[in-house]
Amino acid sequence: MQTEILSLLPQEIAEKIPTQPKYRAEQIFEWLHKKNAQSFSEMLNLPKELREELDANFHITMANVIEKQVAESDGTTKFLTTLNGAYAESVLMRYKHGNSVCISTQAGCKMGCKFCASGESGFQRDFSAAEYLAQVYNCAPVKNIVLMGCGEPLDNFDETIRFIELITHPKGANISGRNITVSTCGLVPQIYSLAEKRLQITLAISLHAPTDEIRQSIMPIAKTYPLQELLTACRHYAEKTRRRLTFEYALTKDLNDSPTHAKTLAKLLQGLLCHVNLIPINKTSANFSPTPHRTGETFANILLENKIPTTIRRSLGGEIDAACGQLRSKYA
Ligand code: SAH
Repeated sequence: MQTEILSLLPQEIAEKIPTQPKYRAEQIFEWLHKKNAQSFSEMLNLPKELREELDANFHITMANVIEKQVAESDGTTKFLTTLNGAYAESVLMRYKHGNSVCISTQAGCKMGCKFCASGESGFQRDFSAAEYLAQVYNCAPVKNIVLMGCGEPLDNFDETIRFIELITHPKGANISGRNITVSTCGLVPQIYSLAEKRLQITLAISLHAPTDEIRQSIMPIAKTYPLQELLTACRHYAEKTRRRLTFEYALTKDLNDSPTHAKTLAKLLQGLLCHVNLIPINKTSANFSPTPHRTGETFANILLENKIPTTIRRSLGGEIDAACGQLRSKYA
C-alpha cells in the first residue's frame, strides 16, 4: 500500500518532498487536517506537478461508509465503515455544547471482556493513526473525541500517541488534548509509559468491579494486573500529569451493584484525583442485565457520601446498535 499521508506530521511530509520549499509540507498538512481534503487534486495552491507526485506516492485514508444508523430520539449516529478494507465502527453523539465522536482503535479486540461485543469475532488488526483520523474526519467538525470504540487503545500504543500528536497539532484540526479521552481496560505498563508523555488528555479506566474476584470473572486482564497494581499505576498517573482520571463502571444486576460493592469501591478510590462514571450495562449476547435505576442511584449516593465525584452517565443511542462492537459484530 502507498504511504498513508494522514499519519505524517508536517516535518515528516517535508522529508518526503525534499526538493520543495518548506512551507509546502505545511500547506499539505492544512489541506488534509484542517480542510479535510479528500484528494490531492483539490489542493489548488500547490503546483500541478507536485499534486501529481503526491497522488502517485501517497494515499489519503478515508472511512468508507457501509451502513449508517441514526437514533431518532437524539440524533446519535453510528457508522459502520471500512478502513483500508477492515470493518470499523464509530459513533457520533450530538450535544448542545458540540459533537463528540467515539472511534475504534483496532479491528476486533484481544482483551476478551465478557460483557463486550468488540472481541466476539476475535482480533483482526491494529488501526493506524491515519485510520483513527479518517473516522474523526468522517464526522467533522467535532469538539470531543473518545477512544472508546472497538479495540484497546493502549494495546496499540504508538499509533494512539501519534494520533494524539496529529489531531492536536496547531496547523491541523487543533483539537485540545483536554477534549480527548483515552479509555483502557487497565494495561499497567502502558499507563506508566503514557504518564511519561504528560499529555493533557483524560485517561479513563474501565474498572467495572471493586474486587479482584469480580473483576477477574468478567475481565481477563484483571488476572495479569490485579487491582492493587492497577490503582498504584493510576495514582502515579494522576500525580505525574495532574489530570483527573475517570473510572468507568458498568452497573450490572446482581454482579457489582450492591451497597457493599459501592463502599468497597469508595475505599479503593479514596484520595485519588478521579471521577466515577456509572453506566447501566448494555445488553449484548452475554447474559448481563442492567442494574435498575433506583439501585444505581443508591450506589451513586454511597460514592458521593464518601466524597468520590460520581455521575450516572446518560446512555445515548440505545435503540441503535451503539454499544461497543454491536454493529460490527453483525458483519465481521
Ligand atoms: N478497550 C478500552 C476501550 C474500549 S471499550 C477499554 O476497555 O476501556 C469502551 C468502554 O465501554 C469500556 O469502558 C468498556 O468496558 C465499556 N463497555 C463494553 N461493553 C459494554 C457493555 N455491554 N455495556 C456497558 N459498557 C460496555
